[in-house]
Amino acid sequence: MKFGIDIGHNSFPDIGAQGIQLEDNLTLDVGNRVIAKLKALNHQVIDCKPQRSRSITDSLATRCNIANANRVDLFVSIHFNAFNGLANGTEVFAISDNGRKSGQPVLDEITKLGFFRRGLKNGSHLYVLKNTNMPAILVECCFCDARKDMKLYEPEAMANAIVKGLVGELPGEDEPVIHIPDEEDNPNTAVLRLQKALNRLKIPGQNGRSLVEDGFIGLQTKTAVENFQRITAIQQTGIAGNTTWKAINQVLSKRILRINHAGGVAVRYVQHRLGADNDGMYGPQTEGLVKKFQQQNSLVADGIVGTMTWTKLIG
Ligand SMILES: [Zn+2]
Repeated sequence: MKFGIDIGHNSFPDIGAQGIQLEDNLTLDVGNRVIAKLKALNHQVIDCKPQRSRSITDSLATRCNIANANRVDLFVSIHFNAFNGLANGTEVFAISDNGRKSGQPVLDEITKLGFFRRGLKNGSHLYVLKNTNMPAILVECCFCDARKDMKLYEPEAMANAIVKGLVGELPGEDEPVIHIPDEEDNPNTAVLRLQKALNRLKIPGQNGRSLVEDGFIGLQTKTAVENFQRITAIQQTGIAGNTTWKAINQVLSKRILRINHAGGVAVRYVQHRLGADNDGMYGPQTEGLVKKFQQQNSLVADGIVGTMTWTKLIG
């Protein structure tokens, strides 16, 4: 068979999620092993990953173009998920019936390794599945930000599971396997994680709606970042750098806030949500609005933003 193997991301500015391990390193390691194993089994393999890209869309389009131009029989995109550190397990996306038929055994083999079966899912929102002409699957091997998955994960076992799922067999033990060492830390942030975080914080884009979680930096995501930066008194760059991520994480950490004992980013965020003056000081006005919010949500109106109140605010 002729496979188009698409090693996810690894084509700046198309970079992967940043978890306990970097998605870029994981997809490269597993992907190269999959390619070597398929070749060892005498399959043809087209490596679809571009070296560099002008943009994320360019990166995705190039991958599809390479697969289409080479008329591969099956396109396989390899990714690792990231969400909130707790979500874990494996999911495989496909659109066509033939895609689903190819994806099912891959999912089966990976979950045999002990990963939670999230399922075989409809990938009609995924660019590389929509824009390839042949059956295509996208494998989210497991979560690179979940301790549970990263403890279980082992690149050789993951690559074997994918190959076994694709072709039903593995090369002999003595076949050479390419090992790719870890790359340097990449300080950039995964766009998808950013969109999920902003949606959880109920920070809308320019259209006033929650963001489409598609992993693309567009006007809506950029505007939402600016909105968050304005709310939390960070310089409005529209780019989520370290300062912005630190602020997002400060809010998501749900620290207990009470009058005269809290200030800063989390307080500004609560003030924004409750319509208080956005001065970053947990004074009487903020406390009053917190009590009102608690009453409206059938919570004890103690004016302290604790776990229950945070859950009502951001889930
Ligand atoms: Zn990915």
